[in-house]
Amino acid sequence: MGAGSGAKRERKKRTYHCSCCDEGQPFCWTCPCGFQICNTCMEENLWGLTCSGVNWQCPDCGSLRPFQE
Ligand SMILES: [Zn+2]
Ligand SMILES: [Zn+2]
Repeated sequence: MGAGSGAKRERKKRTYHCSCCDEGQPFCWTCPCGFQICNTCMEENLWGLTCSGVNWQCPDCGSLRPFQE
């Protein structure tokens, strides 16, 4: 018989977790180092994260990330 039905998945949809406001977000800009930042925080910190508006700089590892997936 089946081995019980305990395979309960608590998987939410693919969500992000902003490293800045520490909340789950439907979308975040991400860095390979694991840093994530939501649009709200990005806008609030835009002055510190980008100088051109073309890329944003990860505050954790310093890499430049493009504003696209
Ligand atoms: Zn945020
Ligand atoms: Zn990074």
